[in-house]
Amino acid sequence: MLRRIPTLIGLPYDASSSFLRGASAAPPLVRAALHSPASNDWTEAGIELIAGRDYADAGDVELPDLPEAREAIERAITSVVATGGRPVSIGGDHSVAYPIVRAIARDISRFTILQIDAHPDLYDEFDGDRFSHACPFARILEEHANVRLVQVGTRTMTGHQREQATRFGVDVIDMRASSSGRRPELSGPVYVSIDLDGLDPAFAPGVSHREPGGLSVRDALDLIQSLPAPIIGGDVVELNPSQDLVGVTAAVAGKLVRELIGRMVI
Ligand code: MN
Ligand code: MN
Repeated sequence: MLRRIPTLIGLPYDASSSFLRGASAAPPLVRAALHSPASNDWTEAGIELIAGRDYADAGDVELPDLPEAREAIERAITSVVATGGRPVSIGGDHSVAYPIVRAIARDISRFTILQIDAHPDLYDEFDGDRFSHACPFARILEEHANVRLVQVGTRTMTGHQREQATRFGVDVIDMRASSSGRRPELSGPVYVSIDLDGLDPAFAPGVSHREPGGLSVRDALDLIQSLPAPIIGGDVVELNPSQDLVGVTAAVAGKLVRELIGRMVI
């Protein structure tokens, strides 16, 4: 079987952010952190990841501040998949997950999404926008009956979103459940969507919506390292460089990307 190459792709888009803009500036900073000589190219499991050999980089997609951006993202991810890649997207706000998953679902129809996030992102609409970064998983689950969603790290569930979670059969492992030791039970194929605000702002302050009481970096690494194969793609989103402190959140994002790619290549 064709070996699918993890392929980085930058999605500099933040026009669907509901509170602060800024996430569109993230992709080059995540790349810089991933390649920073402050660390090296080895994963914690002892796998060396050489850019161009073990993973590809499709660069950044040029995206307008308009709804057409979603179509451009879907086209770009479709092209990564069509050329034998498995997309590892660097956001951008979390609205990008909807067009990404649309493209992937055309290739593989039945899979699980692991979403790490402080927020459920299940609003039917937010501030009049059905494609807000508060809504992508509602859109995904409406469209794809064979996609199962497991959420970890949530701690801002509203009544409406709880109804949505029940309606769509979402497996919600909120922070209180995580703290009591509950872990996701996953089988492949898996797509992993990492909103950096799922982490505690003490570890990842560079996000638009700081929500105390979140996962540690170690918790997130444990989740990534225990993902079952195959991992069909992933995204790391919502880094807002204007809110970051001395690049600490970018460094976290780079590390999560490295460990995710490391998990995808075995
Ligand atoms: Mn999110
Ligand atoms: Mn979030």
